[in-house]
Amino acid sequence: MKQFLYGFLGVLVILLGACEMKIINDETPAPIEEHQANQATISLSIGKFDRSPFVYDTAKKYIYLTFDDGPQHGTLETFGVIRDNGIKATYFMVGLHSQMRKDGNDIVAKIKNTYPQFLLANHSYTHALGKYQSFYMHADQTVAEFIRAQDTLKVPYKIIRLPGNNAWVLKDSTKKSHLVSAVCHGLDSLGFNIIGWDCEWSFGPKTGRPVQSAEQMTNQIVDLLDKNETFTKNHLVLLTHERIFHRPEDLDSLRKMIVLLKQHPNYMFETIDHQFSLL
Ligand SMILES: [Zn+2]
Repeated sequence: MKQFLYGFLGVLVILLGACEMKIINDETPAPIEEHQANQATISLSIGKFDRSPFVYDTAKKYIYLTFDDGPQHGTLETFGVIRDNGIKATYFMVGLHSQMRKDGNDIVAKIKNTYPQFLLANHSYTHALGKYQSFYMHADQTVAEFIRAQDTLKVPYKIIRLPGNNAWVLKDSTKKSHLVSAVCHGLDSLGFNIIGWDCEWSFGPKTGRPVQSAEQMTNQIVDLLDKNETFTKNHLVLLTHERIFHRPEDLDSLRKMIVLLKQHPNYMFETIDHQFSLL
């Protein structure tokens, strides 16, 4: 029965996607659509924001700070540092994590309502519960899960990051492994962009704290941009997790990296909806 339901939802989602693509092609803002199916409600929230054309400066290099897995401890602390520095960042959030915290909905709303400085994006509903192999092998269920997260979190744009997998599906460029191929295809056909990362500010598996220093992270970013070793030339996506900065001394490290990067006059911090190659 469950499988039947997921299959049915998959077909419904594809039909909705087809309708929606047509609306977008006509350049008319798409309304929020809600459809009832066997007690499951799906709404697609694309089109809630007017998306103004972004003008790129070819003399600049763009850095996208992206934080994954929130809302979680560290979300508000990193939010404060970014706000105080007057730069921009994107939070890829997990639907279930917002439901598991008393203040989850408030944190999600805070990120969402501070656009254009902050952008809320989709990082699935369950984060695969850590079972990535199975998650990506059941493509219809997984695509339906991203739509559930889109609905629960009320994500403004169709921008996704896959849990535990560095895949990219953009307008004119794609990079994905065989494991996630079917999920990427399903999401792509619904008009979702999938964002990977060029480098990660990683954390120690035992300590949960940042591995690289602020200086090391800055040097890595400068090096990747200088050598054009990013997925999109002159656009660098940094992945990290806000929970690794929840200690004051680690938050200082984040602050320091931002200050170091801001010393480069040709660097711009942007939200990921302004990544050059989005659909
Ligand atoms: Zn994640």
